[in-house]
Amino acid sequence: MSTAAPAAPIAEDHVDFYETTKSRFEKAAVTCKLAQDVHVILSEPKNVVQVNFPVRMDNGTVRIFQGYRIQHNNILGPYKGGIRYHPSVSMDEVKALAALMTWKCALVGLPLGGAKGGVQIDPRQFSRDELMRITRRYTHALGTNIGVDYDIPAPDVGTNGQIMNWIMDTYMNSVGYATRNVHRGVVTGKTLTCGGSEGREKATGQGLFFVLEKWAEERGMALGKCTYAVQGFGNVGSWASTLMDQTGAKLIAVNDHRGTLYNPDGIAVPALVEHVKKNGAVDGFPGARSIPRDEFWSIPTDVLIPAALENQINRNTAPMIKTKVIAEGANGPVTPKGEAILAERGIEMLPDILANSGGVIVSYFEWIQNKNNERWDLEEIDAKLKKRILKSYAAAKVAAERHKTDLRTACYIVALERIAAAYSERGIFP
Ligand code: NAD
Repeated sequence: MSTAAPAAPIAEDHVDFYETTKSRFEKAAVTCKLAQDVHVILSEPKNVVQVNFPVRMDNGTVRIFQGYRIQHNNILGPYKGGIRYHPSVSMDEVKALAALMTWKCALVGLPLGGAKGGVQIDPRQFSRDELMRITRRYTHALGTNIGVDYDIPAPDVGTNGQIMNWIMDTYMNSVGYATRNVHRGVVTGKTLTCGGSEGREKATGQGLFFVLEKWAEERGMALGKCTYAVQGFGNVGSWASTLMDQTGAKLIAVNDHRGTLYNPDGIAVPALVEHVKKNGAVDGFPGARSIPRDEFWSIPTDVLIPAALENQINRNTAPMIKTKVIAEGANGPVTPKGEAILAERGIEMLPDILANSGGVIVSYFEWIQNKNNERWDLEEIDAKLKKRILKSYAAAKVAAERHKTDLRTACYIVALERIAAAYSERGIFP
């Protein structure tokens, strides 16, 4: 877990993330001639929950915090999506992320809908006890708006397995004593001891790696001979880097909220992972040179992995980028204008709802294990993840061909067609 007030890059471009996700939905809906009734239903989230809750700070004073849970759609199954703790969390950001979860779950064929939650805080500014009380009060305030068969949160930026454990514990303590264990799956991404799944921590990075490996194989490229750069060295960025590193690929640049590192000879990934665990960020790592933040985008690489926040690759940064492929670990890292510039320059993009879907896929496996009181081993989980994510990649490529469109729009189309089929077969009540 890591986050802090975002440093303002000179290349900042203020784009409305919610408008971006809406425009991508509109483009796909028009391309696949989505039925009008389904189109209007999916244009807005189903439920918007905003809670204000009091928390006692370590110094004895009480502060009020604001939290959100946006439930976008549940036609395919219970709402599912992460919880973000970050100073830039807003209602519109959470709405955008909730819609992305609907498309993502449908694209990868999960019987789940889309939701997202968030609290506008910088978790680094609070003690462990304060963070626990904030999490417990947020969970309590959400009440029955979450539930094991209704809406199942997971980790996102600024949250981790420990925070999921506190949500689970608070929720389980608020339901009937005898049926308590039935509710263990109210959140996923828990630690292993508390009912988490093997492979969940690395799942998003692992899924991204499987897609990237396939992309390289299709082009006759050896991933192990590639150079790459990563923005964000939290859960997604560090795991994607670790798996790339195991192939022999060379990490030459990394950027996070506190620093930017460059080493053309390669940055030692395991040592950087240890450094970030102790230091909280990449700055001060001895095995690379510190460079100005905005130089990060112009370093030539074969692969670029944005794994931090939305809107990072935009009209200002896209023209500087010299890479072959952008594998979107983050949600919404490329703005529409940035995307147009990259496409014109022949830079390929592996879209977020496909490339980072490994997290929700293994969250789904955790949820099933909890329901059945089972424990699956890592080999089984990795194999199931690989099969599902590559099948979804193949389906998106077929849709891209069929509709003569880009891979991102094709991913949306696969999702929309599955959702539309469910509405059509069930009918719209009343
Ligand atoms: P995290 O909190 O573990 O790490 C976030 C990283 O982003 C940190 O390294 C932080 O330093 C960096 N960061 C924050 N602000 C930054 C800024 N202004 N500039 C540069 N770097 C900055 O979060 P995470 O779980 O790794 O999530 C990263 C992205 O991946 C998010 O977009 C998230 O929605 C997406 N995602 C996460 C998961 C998951 O399973 N955790 C699943 C799918 C998608």
